[in-house]
Amino acid sequence: MTTYDVTKSDAQWREELTPDQFAVLREAATERPWTGELLDEHRAGLYTCAACGAELFQSGTKFDSHCGWPSFYESIRPEAVELIEDRSQGMLRTEVRCANCGSHLGHVFPDGFGTPTGDRYCMNSISLDFTPEA
Ligand SMILES: [Zn+2]
Repeated sequence: MTTYDVTKSDAQWREELTPDQFAVLREAATERPWTGELLDEHRAGLYTCAACGAELFQSGTKFDSHCGWPSFYESIRPEAVELIEDRSQGMLRTEVRCANCGSHLGHVFPDGFGTPTGDRYCMNSISLDFTPEA
C-alpha cells in the first residue's frame, strides 16, 4: 500500500466532499461524458486535486481530445500522480490517482495523438479544481 501525505477515513471524506465527488474521488466512479464543468475550460491556469488541493495539471497541457472528459498530455510533475494497473470492467487500463491523497482522478491512455507525449490523461472534471491565472 502506498502511504499518502493526506489520509482520511471514509467518514471524513464524506463530510468534506459532495456525494458526487465522493463517488468519483473515493470510489473510482466515472462522471458522465460531456457533463464536466472543466471540459470547455480554456483559460490559462492551474488544475488541483478537488480532494486535497495538490497541484496536478497545467492549462498548457490540456487538449481537446473529443472524448467527453478534460484531457491533458502530462501531469505537472511525474510524482504528482500515481499510476495503477486497473483490470476492472474487463479492460486493462491505467488508473490515475492523486499522489498526495490517493483520490481517483481518471485514467491515462496511450492515444493522445498529436501531443508531445502521446498520452491522454482522461480526467473527471469533478476530481479537479481550476484556478485561473491572475
Ligand atoms: Zn489529492
